[in-house]
Amino acid sequence: MLRVLQRIVEAVNQAPDFELALQTMVRQVKEALQTDSCTVYLADHDQQQFALAATDGLEVSSSEPIHVPFGEGVISLAAKREEPLNIANASEHPKFLKLDEVDEARYNAMLAAPVIHRRRVLGVLVVQQEHDRAFTRDEEAFVVTLAAQLAVVIAHAEAKGYLRTTKQSPWLQTTKGLAAAPGVAIGPAYVVQPRAKLSDVTPKKSDKPEHEIRRFRTAVARTRQELNELSESMKGQVAEESLAIFEVYHAMLDSASLGQQVEQTINDGWRAQTALKIVVEDLVNQFENLDDEYIRERASDVRDLGQRILSHLKERGRYQHSPPPQCILVAHEVTATMLAELPNTEIIGMVSVRGSGNSHAAILARSMGIPAVLGADEFDINELNEDTLVVDGYNGEIFINPPLQVENEYRELAEEELELRQKIETARGQPVETEDGVKVTLQLNVGLNTDRDWLNELDIASVGLYRTEIPFMMQERLPTEDEQVELYSQVLEQFKAGTVVMRTLDVGGDKPLPYLPMNEENPFLGWRGIRMTLDHPEIFLVQIRAMLRASVGRNNLQILLPMITSAEEVDEAARMVKQAYHEVAEEFNGHDTQQLAAPKLGVMIEVPAMVYHLHTIVDKVDFFSVGSNDLTQYLLAVDRNNQRVASLYDAYHPAVLHALQQIIERANDLDKPVSVCGELAGEPGGALLLMAMGYRTFSMNSYNIDRIRWIIRHIKAADLAPMLARALQARSPQEVRKIVTMTLEEAGLGGFVRAGS
Ligand code: PEP
Ligand code: MG
Repeated sequence: MLRVLQRIVEAVNQAPDFELALQTMVRQVKEALQTDSCTVYLADHDQQQFALAATDGLEVSSSEPIHVPFGEGVISLAAKREEPLNIANASEHPKFLKLDEVDEARYNAMLAAPVIHRRRVLGVLVVQQEHDRAFTRDEEAFVVTLAAQLAVVIAHAEAKGYLRTTKQSPWLQTTKGLAAAPGVAIGPAYVVQPRAKLSDVTPKKSDKPEHEIRRFRTAVARTRQELNELSESMKGQVAEESLAIFEVYHAMLDSASLGQQVEQTINDGWRAQTALKIVVEDLVNQFENLDDEYIRERASDVRDLGQRILSHLKERGRYQHSPPPQCILVAHEVTATMLAELPNTEIIGMVSVRGSGNSHAAILARSMGIPAVLGADEFDINELNEDTLVVDGYNGEIFINPPLQVENEYRELAEEELELRQKIETARGQPVETEDGVKVTLQLNVGLNTDRDWLNELDIASVGLYRTEIPFMMQERLPTEDEQVELYSQVLEQFKAGTVVMRTLDVGGDKPLPYLPMNEENPFLGWRGIRMTLDHPEIFLVQIRAMLRASVGRNNLQILLPMITSAEEVDEAARMVKQAYHEVAEEFNGHDTQQLAAPKLGVMIEVPAMVYHLHTIVDKVDFFSVGSNDLTQYLLAVDRNNQRVASLYDAYHPAVLHALQQIIERANDLDKPVSVCGELAGEPGGALLLMAMGYRTFSMNSYNIDRIRWIIRHIKAADLAPMLARALQARSPQEVRKIVTMTLEEAGLGGFVRAGS
């Protein structure tokens, strides 16, 4: 059964268009189950009806589309109950609906499985048979499994507009993802493709064969040139025989077969990329099925060559051209490194197919003030060709080539946003203090964003979190001690009037080092942060030494340890910090004992175990810093990077609030300073909740500083207690959000809460 399932899923996924995919599904399911009929109905929620979309077995006498109103028929019952219905004699079922145009009465047995994607019914998959019989448990499981697969296919088609309903404007193409960084951006798409893959090409038709053939020929010419350059550069480095592969590639490009077949397929009405996919995949299949092992091996050469041509066909990508001015970065997976590498003055928005609002790429986007939508998983980036995009970072929506009216609405929203920014900037230089005189310290989170030039304008003296990972991730090896000294010196110098909390390397999770492979099933629960650096004292000591050397003469360094789970880890890390301090002090203090003060040491409270164990580390450190991002992830057992469960990741979860409350109470009892450096501190509602709990030091990205300062200056701390009491009693994050939004509204700060944000 499994093999058959796999075969059907593969065939459906390979189908060049949606209609064919449905046809393939019904035909193959009917065949596999040896039933008399298989049918797919699609739900049209606007029209409140199901539409018969594909059938193998039902005889339809009308040329008009067949509809079943919601609430009628067995299919509606299956959809409503959200479970399969297995009925031996459907025509006797009270819900059976006789449609005049469909010859269905002869079928007795019926199995109807709802097709559900992310809790929404998208349709119903039905199999029917003439003689009365109940379908077996195995058959039922088979159909339910296929319905789940079909859900993905339909959701994808829906997102791409193939299922556009009459109510929607035919030219309004939108896609939904997760609102990862607030704001609105309008500009041309800049698609960054890491490595083109033929399997990722979505089949598309074209009615401009000459144009497509020209594109294909240009791509072939570029591929030839690339192969020449590659073989030239490899001469002398590899054995002569290895270079023979380039001859083979050239021959393949020369050969009438590949080029001619692709051009022929283009003439059949396909786009160049699709034609290339069809021809190359067909060739690869033929090669793979041959007995001769040598020829079978050539399949991978053909695929490689095809992908090379494909990457030239796409004519864009990381290594192909630089971003156009004021563009929107679009990638399958935007990484923090990718953002850091690109000239960020040109990137005004960001869309990522993978990822979620809590990933480091999202944090980086927020710190750069770039509106971002992540986890737009039904968004086909291959379709974009410098199209204009509107990125709505409040609601997680993306519009592709929107009509002028929509674009104008968004331009207005962007202007309002700008006005708000200009207004709140005027509070720079004013004390960060509530209306009733409670003082708050705001600090900056830096490090992910390499551009620090304008931070001084923000009127913030100290850095509460300097993430040191990026320089480690952007190189092909570990940065040397001297390289690190130079980097850290710049930050310590820039904030010499205040203090800089430098966090030791927190790689792992969604920040792997390219040169230190960590192949783990559960990277967020694995070798991450302090766990990795304690296993590599040579890396840890070099980093601490570099921090200390950079701090000589400035003495504004504080060191923060990430992912601490036990007192032993703190002991071990503190011992190494001490060792590094003595080494560096010996080198420098020989000249002047004032030069190097011992740095304060802090611990991130982000692993839930530590919430209950603060007393075991309190005497070993000088301060605590709450990492609400990871604390939320680990308390709720929700991978902060996984878009599938992103709706479950919510720092407003009452359980998270209780943990945060407990931390501040314990820290106060133990008389230890505690701050918050997770994203919650930079959110208007989050900052209010934390204020109400008693936190007085918040570290956040540069984008949020002006907002939070403004909000603090326009509230009374004494008014916040009832809000917190209600939030702690709330049953869900949504309820907390409502309570907090109301408080902001009442304080006249409703403009800081946008729809969906
Ligand atoms: C956190 O976990 O809240 C935090 C500040 O660290 P990071 O987001 O880098 O894991
Ligand atoms: Mg963290």
